[in-house]
Amino acid sequence: MKTLMFDAPYNFYEITMILKNGGLIAIPTETVYGLAGNGFNEVAVSNIFKAKGRPSDNPLILHISSLDMLDDIVLSISDEAQKLMDAFWPGPLTLIFPATEKVPKIITAGLPTVAVRFPSHPIMRKIIENCKFPLAAPSANSSGKPSPTLAKRVMEDLSGKIDGVIDGGKCDIGIESTVVDVATLTILRPGFVTESMLQQIVPAIKNTSIFHQEKPISPGMKYTHYSPNAQVQIVQGKNYIETIKNLIEQDLSKNKYVGVLATDETLHNFANVTTLSVGSQNNLGEIASSFFEILRKFDDLGVEKIYSLSFSQEGIGEAIMNRLEKSAGYNIINC
Ligand code: AMP
Ligand code: MG
Repeated sequence: MKTLMFDAPYNFYEITMILKNGGLIAIPTETVYGLAGNGFNEVAVSNIFKAKGRPSDNPLILHISSLDMLDDIVLSISDEAQKLMDAFWPGPLTLIFPATEKVPKIITAGLPTVAVRFPSHPIMRKIIENCKFPLAAPSANSSGKPSPTLAKRVMEDLSGKIDGVIDGGKCDIGIESTVVDVATLTILRPGFVTESMLQQIVPAIKNTSIFHQEKPISPGMKYTHYSPNAQVQIVQGKNYIETIKNLIEQDLSKNKYVGVLATDETLHNFANVTTLSVGSQNNLGEIASSFFEILRKFDDLGVEKIYSLSFSQEGIGEAIMNRLEKSAGYNIINC
């Protein structure tokens, strides 16, 4: 299959026809690029799982462009859910609702609930409006790889496996949506909408300490995620700079090609190896938006092992650390 690249001015007619015919298109959103298909078409949805190599027990999020689209897919909306929708939709927040019969089982992985998001990105919204059906759209990467924030990264992973990619430039936020289960008022996945932002609207919402646990409560929690080809090792604590330098010495003596994922402020400490900055420590938004792309840049360079600093857990820092810890397979040295 030849994968088309759609540049501006976008041919929305052709894009919409491909989706109506059951095809798959990668579309930019405010979080990361999503691999979109008709959420009511089981063949299209099953092709999303195939193209990504995604395990079939990891359910997908349905994306809508108006609140009346909820009528077909959710059974009921609690008061708390309504408040969160009023406050954060359209935007990077996914809510879990009881699902209607109309939602295919392949979307929910057989669960009685469905995840729904109302994205704010104008291209994504226009396409859903044109299609008039919800789009299933997980991140447009091969399963397990870092999520794509640029169209060319989608092409690298999925070229030949999907019908097209819309080049909308770099995604603003750079990490996936926050996922909240409104039945239990728990955050299943941290994201741009932080715990304290949610608590201002619904004080009872709890951040779980279960993002890494034996028995995951959200299916997506149990899989390897966001991993570049290089092995990632987090080094944190007071002596992280000395520790990383010592580890690098050992690796270099074994001719290993190593790199350091640093910040603008710490870059100068690691002069003798490939060091890439994710941005300034004082700008967590910048770190979030460049994090996945930096992991892919290390792969471009052929780096075998990446030492990474850890970041503040404040605000969006929690979501960044969640992605970093997963990319490292929870490989953390405290020093
Ligand atoms: P992704 O499509 O990669 O952004 O991942 C979607 C996330 O939402 C995964 O972590 C899923 O496990 C989670 N999710 C989707 N549907 C449900 C659901 N019905 N209940 C709980 N979590 C869900
Ligand atoms: Mg994903």
